[in-house]
Amino acid sequence: MNFPLNADLHCHSTTSDGTLPPEEVAARAHANGVDLWSLTDHDEVGGQPRALAAAQRLGLKYLTGVEISVTFADSTVHIVGLGFDHHDPSLIGGLADTRDGRGPRAREMAAQLAKAGIEGAYEGALKYVGNPHLIARPHFARYLVEIGVCKDTPEVFRKYLTEGKPGYVPHRWAKLGDAVRWITQAGGVAVVAHPARYHFSATVEYALFTEFKQHGGLGVEVVTGSHSAAEAARYADLARELDLVASRGSDFHSPEESHTDLGQLPPLPAELTPVWDLLAARVH
Ligand code: AMP
Ligand code: MN
Ligand code: MN
Ligand code: MN
Repeated sequence: MNFPLNADLHCHSTTSDGTLPPEEVAARAHANGVDLWSLTDHDEVGGQPRALAAAQRLGLKYLTGVEISVTFADSTVHIVGLGFDHHDPSLIGGLADTRDGRGPRAREMAAQLAKAGIEGAYEGALKYVGNPHLIARPHFARYLVEIGVCKDTPEVFRKYLTEGKPGYVPHRWAKLGDAVRWITQAGGVAVVAHPARYHFSATVEYALFTEFKQHGGLGVEVVTGSHSAAEAARYADLARELDLVASRGSDFHSPEESHTDLGQLPPLPAELTPVWDLLAARVH
């Protein structure tokens, strides 16, 4: 594949916590000049057939994608999987188990919010849910904006939905090794998503990447909507030091909420090996 490519290998649809259906995400990626696209909904591959069909109608190259929620060192870490067989039974089963806790967690979040004086948040969040198996914090955030509790979703996260705040419920997600194995055994490549977002100490970050590699993980997101230029440079260095391939993705969720639109990112530093070099045979 030609390099540099306008690859966007991280974004969301109504199958998880995005606000556009897969077909509209595909159309927007295409309109923005994306050459290689992947829809990476949280903990769910149910949107893959729609994304793939839409990409094919548009003549847009496509890699299957997912973003798996993992608990590592008592924090939530996201692992993006690319180029796997989305019919793989272990992957599908593992993702179903990962999603399982979301319903009870959401009810507990609503109970906590009720104690903080915000009634009906579960039913309110459900109005924004596109996939009944995937209720996530942004659905709550959208409802709290709707009822005027906050002016936008970042404010809701700051005041209600992050650690130490009234609507935050700690949760156990998948294990790092399991998530990496589900992806790799289905023929895909596992990538650590937006590493700067975790704010790990150097020691914990080193442990994350060491264990990730031991389990078969191969990549790191270097250029993402979540990284500043300095953070991208830092993770470019890390990719070189640890011999990881590099990925690029906007993490687009919504035209109203996302500051980085599909495909509108700096290129990957030219000296890195792009993740798609490993996935040429898996491009649809
Ligand atoms: P959940 O998987 O339910 O914990 O929700 C996580 C999602 O919430 C992420 O994938 C983002 O879409 C969104 N999110 C997390 N932190 C923030 C934040 N500080 N501001 C806005 N959205 C956020
Ligand atoms: Mn999200
Ligand atoms: Mn993420
Ligand atoms: Mn994401």
